[in-house]
Amino acid sequence: MKLLVTGGAGYIGSHTVRALQKAGHTPIIVDNFSRGHRDSVPTDVLCIEMDIADSTLVEVMKEHEIEGVMHFAAHSQVGESMVNPSIYYDNNVVGSYRLIESARQAGVKHFVFSSTAAVYGEPEIVPIKEDAKLEPTNVYGRTKLMIEQMLSDYSKIYGMTYVALRYFNAAGADPSGEIGEDHTPETHLIPLVLDAALGKRPHITVFGTDYPTEDGTCVRDYIHVNDLASAHVLAMNYLHDGGESTVFNLGSGNGFSVKAIIETAKEVTGIDILVEYGDRRAGDPGTLIASSDKIKSVLGWNPVFSNVKDVLKDAWGWHQSHPNGYDDKK
Ligand code: UDP
Repeated sequence: MKLLVTGGAGYIGSHTVRALQKAGHTPIIVDNFSRGHRDSVPTDVLCIEMDIADSTLVEVMKEHEIEGVMHFAAHSQVGESMVNPSIYYDNNVVGSYRLIESARQAGVKHFVFSSTAAVYGEPEIVPIKEDAKLEPTNVYGRTKLMIEQMLSDYSKIYGMTYVALRYFNAAGADPSGEIGEDHTPETHLIPLVLDAALGKRPHITVFGTDYPTEDGTCVRDYIHVNDLASAHVLAMNYLHDGGESTVFNLGSGNGFSVKAIIETAKEVTGIDILVEYGDRRAGDPGTLIASSDKIKSVLGWNPVFSNVKDVLKDAWGWHQSHPNGYDDKK
């Protein structure tokens, strides 16, 4: 299939572009490079520098006879969304609306959307299933939920089928060492812990020690980025084969506290990382662990890289070879 991949130069998008190529699809990237990296784009993939809100995307989709859109382009930081919500509503909600509408006008049949566990908020039951209540505790999660709701309406009324993949904590890097995680500023736990191991930061700060968890720090479900990538390929194939619109969780099903991640990072790197304890970060739920039973049974997805030690080893490999991310020449 010829597929338009928005945000294909970003972290999860770049790993998925490679998975799509391996599966025999033709990805075409649309990225405005506000946060993506040119060096993450394979030389044999067409990459168009354009914003998702640009209405001329209709012509791009028609010209390339795009069958499906994979939509990664979004702002994705919980903390930032709580201090600067306007860019989240603009880029995520307004931008996605324009993209979905362009896809409709171009007659695109299928849509795979990067959603998030943040749509659930603080769960009542863990592991979280797809039918759990949807009460996001932060702006980022709310914007993603709004986009899911738009897709649901477009599916029911216009017949464009979609899969929303609710990611838990994406982490790790392709074992090739060619691509990995590089955000500016970096806010995610694993790259920050590894920056501290490299001496790029004096310490890692743990955000909150009074959560109702075993060791008082937040528990998350870390999922290897290549396992996320393989789920996207399965989801698009499913829609192409006539599958109906739906939502899937994507996680490993295992929870690790912030303290446990830091201890595992010490083990993997062999470096005694300095830890400081700070206040809670606004909008952070205590525990988020996925039930991924639905995607396993419907799509036959199976996470193969998502043992937390492997996640940290692959992330550490990328970090060591690219201590300054894509600014380091390969
Ligand atoms: N976290 C932390 N210190 C940091 C960054 C993150 O303690 O410097 C915690 C954060 O509060 C959350 C977990 O690590 O409980 C994972 O955060 P991240 O930003 O990586 O992903 P999120 O869960 O927000 O998607």
